[in-house]
Parts: sequence; C-alpha cells; structure tokens
Amino acid sequence: MAKRDYYEVLGVSRDATEDEIKKAFRKLARKYHPDVNKDDKNAAEKFKEINEAYEVLRDPDKRARYDQFGHAGFGQGDFNGGNFGGFGNFSDFGGGLFDDIFDIFGGGFGQSRRKGPTRGADLRYDLEITLEEAAFGVEKEVKIFRMESCKKCDGSGAKPGTSPKTCPNCGGTGQVRRVQNLGPMQFTNVTTCENCGGRGNIIDEPCPECHGRGQSKVGRKLKVKIPAGVDTGSRLRMSGEGEPGELGGPPGDLYIIIRAKPHKLFVREGDDLIYEAPISFVQAALGDEIEVPTLEEKVKLRIPEGTQPGTRFRLKSKGIPHIRGYGRGDIHVLINVVIPKNMNEKQRELLIKFAEISGEDVKPTSKGLFGKMKDAFGV
Ligand SMILES: [Zn+2]
Ligand SMILES: [Zn+2]
Repeated sequence: MAKRDYYEVLGVSRDATEDEIKKAFRKLARKYHPDVNKDDKNAAEKFKEINEAYEVLRDPDKRARYDQFGHAGFGQGDFNGGNFGGFGNFSDFGGGLFDDIFDIFGGGFGQSRRKGPTRGADLRYDLEITLEEAAFGVEKEVKIFRMESCKKCDGSGAKPGTSPKTCPNCGGTGQVRRVQNLGPMQFTNVTTCENCGGRGNIIDEPCPECHGRGQSKVGRKLKVKIPAGVDTGSRLRMSGEGEPGELGGPPGDLYIIIRAKPHKLFVREGDDLIYEAPISFVQAALGDEIEVPTLEEKVKLRIPEGTQPGTRFRLKSKGIPHIRGYGRGDIHVLINVVIPKNMNEKQRELLIKFAEISGEDVKPTSKGLFGKMKDAFGV
C-alpha cells in the first residue's frame, strides 16, 4: 500500500500552523484510539498512521525534511525509535494504560520494547556554488558533523580495558515481562528494563571519550563531485554518509542540496541564460557589431540595422549543459536600447535637426544648457 501524505493523513493544509496540526492530531487520535475501537483492526493501522504523521509534522526539522523529500526523507528506522513526545499532553488517556496498549498492538512502538537494528538518520548539507560551477561541474570539499562509532571504545561505550556486562535484571533482552489484568482480559505486558534502559547491558565504567554512548560527534571532510548542469534545488545523495545506524542498522545518507549564487551578467532560465546587452540608439538604428560575454569567452554579435528594444538574439549551445543527455542550452541576448541623458549642445542640435528632417514636430521639454544660459542672461 502506498504511503499516504502526512498532511492528508491529518487532514491539514501544507501551511498549517503547529497548533492546527496538534488539534487535528488530537481529534483523530481520539477517534481512532485502539481503546475505543477494540474490534476494528483498521483503526489500529489508522492510529499508527496518524501517530507517524504527527511525529514528523510536529517537529519543525522533520517537517522541513518531509516537505523537501517526502517519505523518501525518512528511513524505515526513523519511526522504530518511537519518540511519541506528544502524548505528554494527551491528558485523556492515563499514562500506564496507554503504554500497555502499545504493547497489545505490538508493531513499531519502540518505547517499551528493545530496539532492533535502526537505520541512521539522513543528513543535509546546503552547498552554494557559482553559475560557472553549476554549468561545468566542480569538485568541492564539504565539512559535515555526524555521529560516528567511538574510536576509543570501539563503540561499546565501556572504558577501554573493560567491557559491558549483561544486565542481570533482564538477562540481556532489555525487556521485562509481567502479566496484568485489565478488566476481564489478561495481558502479558512487556516493558523496558529499567535497570539497563533497554540496552540489555550495563556499563560500569563508561568510556571517557563518549561517556558510554558508544558514539561521538565528529567533523568529517568529504569530497563531493558536482556534475555539470545542476541548478538551485538539485540534490545529490551520498549513500551511507549520514548518521550511523544503531545496533547493526545501516547508516543514513547525506543529501547535498545545491544553491547557485546569482550571476552578475546572466539570469538562468532552465538551461538557457539571458544576457541583457545595452546598446545605444545609434547602434540600434544603424546596426553594429558588439561583443557579448558567454560562460567561456567573449563573442561577436552582429546587430542589424533598425534593431528594436527587446529584440532577442540567440547564441546557440552557449548555455548550460543539459544534466541528462548531451548538448547545451542557449544564451539569449536581450537588446536594451539605452537613451542618452545629459547630451551636450551639439548632440541636441543634431537630434532636433534629425527630427526636422524626419518631419517630426518635437517640442523639447528641456531647453538644454544653451537655452538655460540664454534665460539666465536675459538675451
Ligand atoms: Zn567511547
Ligand atoms: Zn536490563
């Protein structure tokens, strides 16, 4: 069965506030709670789905990750650890009973069972590159911080020379079983071993490096090969470079998210580039040969006589290489006819003359420098 969109599951819009999400969750959780739908297997599934959606959408980081990557942003393991912090506020259901219900329905509710192998979390790195780097590809070094198995204790969490002991309370299973009567029904209730916190072992002398966690945060420099043709929003997956898995689970992935800096000459449109070429009205009227930049070198472009403002010329295959397949986009040269300001007297005179010859009756709004002088001296 395809996984449903989390927003759809909770029946909220994509821009719903935290409060709206919380309200929607509470309403649905009440409706589908296994305790009120004892005979309905679908309700249990639905309840799980609601919880999973809420677990992601209530957390701004996870929500951002979901918005960006969808379900693909989360490994199978992301939900096994079951951090259902939201239930803290969930006053309608007594804490003890609630925990028990998780056990009855088994499944992925990790709180009261020993965790199995869990896939490590994915990491994200935002990388800013230039337009030229996006066009031709580049190799970059990025520094990420991630948890890694502690070198000092080999990940055991115990001080070197010592080793973790099997927990005597649970015999290493991390779980304690007891039988409980709930109304007419009897349940075998499995809870996390309090002695070892579900790990199954006890560390008497923790490793001084990682304080018994078996992992520590390290900075890692990684080389990233950016292929030619990427654009803002492109993401590159570096398999296995995310956080490490737990209890033998595989590591997560590292996603490199590309952001191309704005360029001072070109505006990118897909694989095409737009370049705005300023030319004078004389060049536009008479035609000329101008120089225009490309990503590699300057090239000559012939402007025909009588070129209008806004005319586009195409420099074929001078744009961005297509990321899939061969070939490149184009550069579009957009003609911007620049009208002169602050002309001198001679220029003004010639333009007025030009207008006369053209049969235009122009009444200039400015008198020009000469006219102003005449006014000033009252000549
Ligand atoms: Zn250690
Ligand atoms: Zn134990």
